[in-house]
Amino acid sequence: MATRGRQVRASELPSACISRISRRTYSFSFDPIVESRVLVLYTGGTIGMVRNNSGILAPTANALVHSLRRYPDLHDETYAQGKFKSETSDAPLVLPHIEGKRRVIYSILEYDPLLDSSNMTMEDWSRMAEDIKRFYTLFDGFVVLHGTDTLAFSASALSFMLEGLSKPVVITGSQIPMVDARSDGKSNFLSALVLAGNCEIPEVTVFFGEVLLRGNRTVKASVGSLRAFTSPNCRPLATVGVRIEVDFKSIIRPPRIDTFTVHSTLNRNVGLLRLFPGITTQMVRAFLQPPLEGAVLQSFGAGNVPSNREDLLAEFKAATSRGVVLVNCTQCQQGVVMSVYETGKALIDVGVTPGSDMTPEAGLTKLAYVLSKSEWDVETKRQMMQSCLRGELTVPRSQSYNGCENRDGEDEFGKDLMAARLCAAVVKKDVARVEEILENGADVNCVTPGDRRSALHVACTEGDAGIVRHLLLAGASQDILDRHGRSPLMDAVTFDHHETISVLRSFGASLQASNYGNLICEAAAKGDVMRLKSYQLAGADLGQTDLSGRTPLHMAALFARLQCVSLLLEAKVSREPMDALGDTPSDLAARRNYGAVLNMLECAD
Ligand code: ASP
Repeated sequence: MATRGRQVRASELPSACISRISRRTYSFSFDPIVESRVLVLYTGGTIGMVRNNSGILAPTANALVHSLRRYPDLHDETYAQGKFKSETSDAPLVLPHIEGKRRVIYSILEYDPLLDSSNMTMEDWSRMAEDIKRFYTLFDGFVVLHGTDTLAFSASALSFMLEGLSKPVVITGSQIPMVDARSDGKSNFLSALVLAGNCEIPEVTVFFGEVLLRGNRTVKASVGSLRAFTSPNCRPLATVGVRIEVDFKSIIRPPRIDTFTVHSTLNRNVGLLRLFPGITTQMVRAFLQPPLEGAVLQSFGAGNVPSNREDLLAEFKAATSRGVVLVNCTQCQQGVVMSVYETGKALIDVGVTPGSDMTPEAGLTKLAYVLSKSEWDVETKRQMMQSCLRGELTVPRSQSYNGCENRDGEDEFGKDLMAARLCAAVVKKDVARVEEILENGADVNCVTPGDRRSALHVACTEGDAGIVRHLLLAGASQDILDRHGRSPLMDAVTFDHHETISVLRSFGASLQASNYGNLICEAAAKGDVMRLKSYQLAGADLGQTDLSGRTPLHMAALFARLQCVSLLLEAKVSREPMDALGDTPSDLAARRNYGAVLNMLECAD
């Protein structure tokens, strides 16, 4: 079943996109069951570097994009030609067929200038976050190509800045440039694309070597190894070997699905202070001076500082008393800050916040994020620093909230049973039972075997807005497509459940990946005003065309559906578009002598 993708206007396309996203149109036949769309932000790094005349590696504009079409493992020219026809030269790239996976169609947004990541600043993190926001609805997932040196900082920062993320963002790079025969770039890039286009992992992650790691848990651990990144306090979210094994229990789905937003303003007055035996008071005092507003103290072992250094502790106390947020993270790669020693307790006593097992990268970027939240007072900010916001730290189970703990106790068969039970409770509108099943550890996003429908699909078909809200608050994903490629929102539209549609919309749902051009035109042709209203409430583009290039207004005019014409005109759809035969809606009404329709079309302002 081929479906048409949403038409993207040229003005919406990335201006610096030399990846050949066509500037005329990005509309192509798109089937969400077998294909997915991924946007690649190419920021720089070794992966796309080439050697200059003196043999020094440097980022070079256009070099990576030009070479990609030559790699058969990263681009299937035959498929692309069939799909994009004459637009091949500036059409998106396409991964070759991979058994059991959706085919990834990808476009590259190349940054100008391309950066060695050592030259990056917080502005660059904001730019990446803003670009993801700009193209969020047009793609199913995102890949960021990045230099490895500061990749862990960017991954951590993005994890906080992208609020309510419901799509995968996979960051990768390489140790050896893609143009070199032994490069790890091709396999890293390929796996990142497959993961971003196929796996429901709504987190900022890092793919490197053969593991997918939670972005804000990663550290660059090796200068030379092809497995350069580790996440010492968090097991990989997926491993890529002969098979791609995703550890679904470890994936965080936020319990509140808010509309996706980007918080791109960061507080730059933050720092890292690594303690060492004999550090002087003057040094610490100078570091803590304004404009500093927050710092990660990298302490010894399990979070210790010398408890016999009253001078140092006095400096920390003075800083926290004037509102500076200090967070205690260990210098060790692995393990948690604890107050088991007198030396660790001393920091708590002077107002330093324990940072559990956060990496310094996560601690610093989280501070930049938390401190920029003007709606939080300093106590709330300290509380946030010890809370798990995006899986960046481990909290004791009894204290855990914000959905960061993993769910236990599910095997494959158990999951199927859970899905069936959950869907049955939804059909019976039994909220108490739904709650009980979720409390017993069921994944709110489990799907029924066969049709792959989630509890949210079922609730949207039933049209119970209360249960829909309940499931969304429990972390139900709006992006799961069932076997027929239908989203929960599409189900609510098909049954004209207007209240349910409104609830879904308030949680950020949109119709972008579905084909509704034919359906919406059919509704207009039949005079089905309710259905048109459903599409309108769902945020649909009422100017979508069917296969003959006709808009709903063409159809309403052709069949003299006055109420539909009136609804569409009130929605300010264009009266000008021409169908494949060159007819406007007025031409069709004139041909059939529909005076009333013509009147409405001509009188509308
Ligand atoms: N210096 C490079 C960078 O971080 C190293 C790399 O990409 O691996 O951009």
